[in-house]
Amino acid sequence: MTASLAATAQDLLARMGVDASLVTGGPLTVTSPIDGSEIGAVTPSAASDVSALVARSQAAFQAWRQVPGPRRGELIRLLGEELRAHKDDLGRLVTIECGKIVSEGLGEVQEMIDICDFAVGLSRQLHGLTIASERPGHAMRETWHPLGPVGVISAFNFPVAVWSWNTALALVCGDSVIWKPSEITPLTAMACTSLLKRAMDKLGADAPADLIQLLIGDGAVGEALVDDPRVPLISATGSTRMGKAVAPRVAARLGRSILELGGNNAAIIRPTADLDLAVRGICFSAVGTAGQRCTSLRRIIVHSAIRDELVQRLKTAYASIRAGDPLVDGTLVGPLIHEKAFADMDAALAQAKAEGGTVHGGGRAQVAGREAGFYPVPALVEMPAQTAIVETETFAPILYVLTADNLDEAIALQNAVPQGLSSSIFTNDLREAETFLSAVGSDCGIANVNIGPSGAEIGGAFGGEKDTGGGRESGSDAWKGYMRRATNTVNYSGALPLAQGVKFDI
Ligand code: NAD
Repeated sequence: MTASLAATAQDLLARMGVDASLVTGGPLTVTSPIDGSEIGAVTPSAASDVSALVARSQAAFQAWRQVPGPRRGELIRLLGEELRAHKDDLGRLVTIECGKIVSEGLGEVQEMIDICDFAVGLSRQLHGLTIASERPGHAMRETWHPLGPVGVISAFNFPVAVWSWNTALALVCGDSVIWKPSEITPLTAMACTSLLKRAMDKLGADAPADLIQLLIGDGAVGEALVDDPRVPLISATGSTRMGKAVAPRVAARLGRSILELGGNNAAIIRPTADLDLAVRGICFSAVGTAGQRCTSLRRIIVHSAIRDELVQRLKTAYASIRAGDPLVDGTLVGPLIHEKAFADMDAALAQAKAEGGTVHGGGRAQVAGREAGFYPVPALVEMPAQTAIVETETFAPILYVLTADNLDEAIALQNAVPQGLSSSIFTNDLREAETFLSAVGSDCGIANVNIGPSGAEIGGAFGGEKDTGGGRESGSDAWKGYMRRATNTVNYSGALPLAQGVKFDI
């Protein structure tokens, strides 16, 4: 069993053009959460390597920024083709390296393909405004220019999609990219880089060799990247702890950051809700990816009129969900990423009990042939109040049940956590739905009606507020974060405006 996961991973990497010598024999061991076995061993970069890498990225940027936008888009179109051709390979590698079920691994690659399509169109639409000048004989407009090398730091749980949101946009915007993936998932990062290099080869001489560079390593290597003043933008996705370490360092050198951090997402369930829809939406959002999504549903806030029925139906649904091997068809919940994640889940459930909660589920599921993996039993926890543990993001399948009758009270409870990523309401009452989406409603970056908080599309700007970092990646006008804006004024009148003309007698 152990040999076969390693062999499969190595085979998939080879199919995507990653040289075997790069993924074996190194000092950083890569293990699969499926069974804890070693699937690769890579060589990390040192913090002292970062300076030279940034210099190469700068040189690549200086060439790439002169390539016309639509031609830059052609590179991303070619990347999309590579991803289509290797969707199964990369999706399975995501499953083996980070443990999400195969359909979610494939879904992640589909998201990459989708953002490539989006970015190809965007490459012809990097346009600014023309602005009516207040001065006679003057024209004013804004121009968007490439920014420079972009540092992308990503988390283990979306090992490839987050990179593609950032990279597809950054490359069509004329930037070069240095990617520091999670040290837990370097293999998928190497595969993505290899596929992009293939696309660069197909594009030809327009693509400078160091347009994309990979920086394998832990937070210390990340910090060297974060501190380098030649990197004008750091886009970092991960825990709030990481964001709080990164943000002040980038700010200290007056750099720019896009931060995508933790979530503690709620759904409000109102008396008019379609409960069939709500139960399905809640289960998908709460136990999908074993609760290891930034948008995972962690709290439901239910009206007392429907609370008992909903809790009963959720208990029945939870009883039918079994964690299992994520490579096997039909598995809905795979393993947690590592032993510490499982210990964190256990500790959170113990704290919930101590704070007055009633816990259904929890503990470790045994999966035949995968005994060394940490497979969680999803937990439903009835809480008397929104206590300290409910206000904490635990990266595991724990769903807390709270009760609130009044809509304003429910919204206040939802908003009363430090994280502000995603949120939802289940209701068939138009006034409640619109109130939830209004200025006095959800304070999150994502607010949904009759659909759970997870499963965002690439077309919208993805990101949250408060402790979530306030950043936006992916669709909408998020591309503006990867460019610099210049305002240009042209005087075609042959005269200076009065206010400037009278000042000097020269
Ligand atoms: P993490 O914060 O432990 O690591 C994320 C990345 O940051 C890794 O590449 C890590 O090496 C790097 N890092 C850590 N400390 C650093 C430092 N001081 N300087 C520079 N880089 C540093 O997160 P994780 O455990 O990999 O992922 C889970 C967390 O990520 C959860 O909190 C989840 O909500 C969040 N997440 C958020 C989003 C989002 O879009 N909002 C998406 C995915 C994951």
